[in-house]
Amino acid sequence: MLTELLGLPTHPLTTFLGLVVGGLTFYGLLSTLSYFYFFRWRKERYHPRYVEDPVQIKSALSWSAVSLLGNAVLTTPFHLAVAYGWSEVYYDVSDFGWPWLFASIGIYLAVTETMIYWVHRALHWGPLWKYVHRPHHSFKQPTSFVGVAFNPLDSFAQGLAHHLCVFLFPVHVGVYLFFVAFVTVWAVMIHDRVSFVRWKGINYTGHHTVHHWYDNYNFGQFFTLWDRLGGTYKDPESSEVRAEVPEGVLRR
Ligand SMILES: [Zn+2]
Ligand SMILES: [Zn+2]
Repeated sequence: MLTELLGLPTHPLTTFLGLVVGGLTFYGLLSTLSYFYFFRWRKERYHPRYVEDPVQIKSALSWSAVSLLGNAVLTTPFHLAVAYGWSEVYYDVSDFGWPWLFASIGIYLAVTETMIYWVHRALHWGPLWKYVHRPHHSFKQPTSFVGVAFNPLDSFAQGLAHHLCVFLFPVHVGVYLFFVAFVTVWAVMIHDRVSFVRWKGINYTGHHTVHHWYDNYNFGQFFTLWDRLGGTYKDPESSEVRAEVPEGVLRR
């Protein structure tokens, strides 16, 4: 599908290369812009106590590159299946109409929110934590470069829900592409430790900063509903968190 959009032949190698080049470029630009803006150019405003740690940055960039490469390998079969017409992806809104388009977005969010919450919780368990998810938590005070700094199996497991949706029910190609791109934007945003939206229903940056600080709260994707249902919600603005997390880590 990606190759079709770029006018390239649909082939495992072109699909893989498209994903690698597209992923590295998109993520590279987003994370670099975010890091330079919040942690360097506007450091005094956003992170006045931040001290750059070259070892951490190098580690985050290495894990990100490995994650993007590994994900390109693991998701190539999904993209090929979509290109070959084996999925439920459709290209013309009139095929199912506007009501279905909006309903499908709701279902898409319900499926991904549920799967990602439980997959993320599973990744905090025993051997999965030890061998798969722990590298992402080596960044106790994240920066924009930590957005996709994962073991590839970890980022693949957490992104799998998005790819499965298009095999479960009809999804318009624009909806699928929007969410696949938006999760990358979201991943960078929730690691820059700058919260703009502070509505507690949204799993905004402060929530994910708390996830990295304590390790066992706020596992959700875009919303906090599953954390509330699962008893793992922690309000980043509660007096307890304010007392325990230094101000340099969690902006007030
Ligand atoms: Zn985690
Ligand atoms: Zn994280």
